[in-house]
Amino acid sequence: MRRSIIAGNWKLNNTEKEAVALVTALRNVFIDLTELDIVVCPVFTAIPVVHDVLFESNIAVGAQDLYWEDSGAFTGEVSAPLLKELGVKYVIVGHSERRQLFGETNQTVNKKICAALRYGLTPIVCVGEVLQEREGNKTFDTIETQCKESLAGLTAEEIKKIIIAYEPVWAIGTGKTATPQQAQEVHQFIRRWLVKMYQDKVAMTIRIQYGGSVKPENIAELMAQPDIDGALVGGASLKADTFIQIVRNSSGILK
Ligand code: PEP
Repeated sequence: MRRSIIAGNWKLNNTEKEAVALVTALRNVFIDLTELDIVVCPVFTAIPVVHDVLFESNIAVGAQDLYWEDSGAFTGEVSAPLLKELGVKYVIVGHSERRQLFGETNQTVNKKICAALRYGLTPIVCVGEVLQEREGNKTFDTIETQCKESLAGLTAEEIKKIIIAYEPVWAIGTGKTATPQQAQEVHQFIRRWLVKMYQDKVAMTIRIQYGGSVKPENIAELMAQPDIDGALVGGASLKADTFIQIVRNSSGILK
């Protein structure tokens, strides 16, 4: 059985004060919600205050990135043990913005996944094609390469601890969502790849989120697809009302 998971990626948004107001609203509304996992990923600097508000709640804190070394001369970086110390449980790895704007590659994504796993953090590993690749019928090739290289060397025990987020780059922050059929087709492709690499029993436990302009209006239809186990939500996670509505419209589905 796969438990649904809805995560909010706040990107570079929200001061400490705004972050506290947002998670206070979420905590109060979701106080009794136990049937799915909810995660918020603030900027690094807001993690401590967000963690304080969410302490002993059913909403977990995630980070948006990490570095693969634990410590040393790596100016500006934040490592897995430091995130662990702050009470972080999840970490987004290989988001398309990091790949496109900050030179992230499948190889650096792989090192970051291994670092997260070493410290018991759950990596949310992002993969997704750009528009040109979709239009050139290269979507499956791109996804396969990203999975193969980003997840290289992971054992069955390790792969069970990760979450994959399929995020078509053309759908991120554009208001253009993949149709439920387009998303399901890629999720199914990823699941079949996992079956090939790790066998059925393992592949069926791995959660695959969809990300790309998720809104309260489209989440239910996306979640109704057999291989979509949750969502990674950007813009719509910045307002309590819309994020609450997304969680409500997606809850109660076990696959
Ligand atoms: C994201 O940043 O992961 C994302 C999916 O953004 P948005 O929901 O705004 O498209």
